[in-house]
Amino acid sequence: MPSAQPLPPTPTRLPRADRIQNFRPSVFTETRELAERHGAIDLGQGAPGLSAPRALLDDAMAAIAEGHNQYPPAAGLPELRRAIADSRLRRSGIRYDADREVVVTAGATEAVTAALLALCNPGDEVLTLDPCYDAYEAAASLAGARLVAVPLATEGDRFCLDEAALRAAVTPRTRLLLLNSPHNPTGKAFTAAELAAVARVCLDHELTAVTDEVYEHLVYDGAGHHSLASVPDMRERTLVVSSAGKTFNVTGWKVGWACGPDRLVGAVLSVKQFLTFASGTPFQLAVARMLGDEEEAWTAELRSTLQRHRDLLRTGLEQAGLRTYRCEGGYFLQADVRGVGYLDGARFCRDLPARAGVAAIPCSAFRHGPQNPHTDRLVRFSFCKPADVVREATSRLTGKWRA
Ligand SMILES: *Cc1c(COP(=O)(O)O)cnc(C)c1O
Repeated sequence: MPSAQPLPPTPTRLPRADRIQNFRPSVFTETRELAERHGAIDLGQGAPGLSAPRALLDDAMAAIAEGHNQYPPAAGLPELRRAIADSRLRRSGIRYDADREVVVTAGATEAVTAALLALCNPGDEVLTLDPCYDAYEAAASLAGARLVAVPLATEGDRFCLDEAALRAAVTPRTRLLLLNSPHNPTGKAFTAAELAAVARVCLDHELTAVTDEVYEHLVYDGAGHHSLASVPDMRERTLVVSSAGKTFNVTGWKVGWACGPDRLVGAVLSVKQFLTFASGTPFQLAVARMLGDEEEAWTAELRSTLQRHRDLLRTGLEQAGLRTYRCEGGYFLQADVRGVGYLDGARFCRDLPARAGVAAIPCSAFRHGPQNPHTDRLVRFSFCKPADVVREATSRLTGKWRA
């Protein structure tokens, strides 16, 4: 903060705790500013530009008007917990007790953070894959734990799991494994065989798993979603995290949840009661109705829309000379900038708004480990925007380098 006067030499000059020393304004803020300055289309951010189901919005407004505006139970409204349990049973065949094995959270983010705070001691290690969602490192460091990120391998146009590397990263301090599938930022959806490999590592080393499945409905090309909890023997050691935000295009509502054995869900609840206690009563009610009645029809429609937008973006990027990686799920496509004369994705992203009127985020912004020559030349573009926005962005890119 700018200040005309020198600050007094008191301890108030050093108000930041060690555990937040690495917290910086995120690359998303920087990219948004750069995009605004150049009137660029922002394909950096992952906020959906698509509308939510009308019935969901109407239900939330009705719930507010009807007076559902006070604290819900800390574990979440019973209607919503039942709807979540029913949905998981219907879709993955796994049964969760709505009273003891489901907890509603302020988005998936609170579920992940509360899980790490609840399950890790200072000095413990949390195993994940690199690159990864930026909140994971922050959550680990709030818990005093260390995030150990094992690089995803690449093979042709795919990202893949390196089971040997994952196994080699386990130490006596490893407490849990944090897996995100479909994966942000790569667009990878882990295959059943890869999940079986992850499960072997967890079972051999007695690790608890936390899976972030916020894109569970957005798996393309008919592949279908696989959860680590569905692998034999994994249900009892896996906390499955998801959220309404990406499924129904209501990221601002922050209605998320975690399902798992009661010892894990109870641990999350014991922390979250002192983080937010509870949130979003009318939104919880509306999401409960949506999960019950119209989840399948809505998500099938959204999936096919986003798959079309993915294809539009992929074609546009390829025509512009950027080779893309296969996107199997979620909101994002990775593109290699070498085809247009760059060696470094971060450099490309700094130039892109002025050069083409488009903004994107370098894959290196999600890297936790040391420099990685394979992924540092990649750039993440999101396609969760209206078709005309995706089309306009690709037309701005086309011919920019090859002409
Ligand atoms: C968007 C996103 C989240 C955030 O979910 P909320 O429900 O908004 O907290 C969590 N994990 C991943 C991988 C995401 O992309």
